[in-house]
Amino acid sequence: MVNIRCGSCSALLFRARHGAIANDIEIKCRRCGTINHLRPTEPLPDRQERPSRKNSCGSISRK
Ligand SMILES: [Zn+2]
Repeated sequence: MVNIRCGSCSALLFRARHGAIANDIEIKCRRCGTINHLRPTEPLPDRQERPSRKNSCGSISRK
């Protein structure tokens, strides 16, 4: 299973098995309201699309 997380706040959106997503989808994060565009899950070893360092739109800051 793959954890699909919000690209903005890293909230867990849903989990899916590899290959469960057959086409592009959009899902709105319930925590921050960001609309995440997701593509079919596939192994992308070289591409870094996770904003792990850039905190321009706010990192995890829960109170
Ligand atoms: Zn979010």
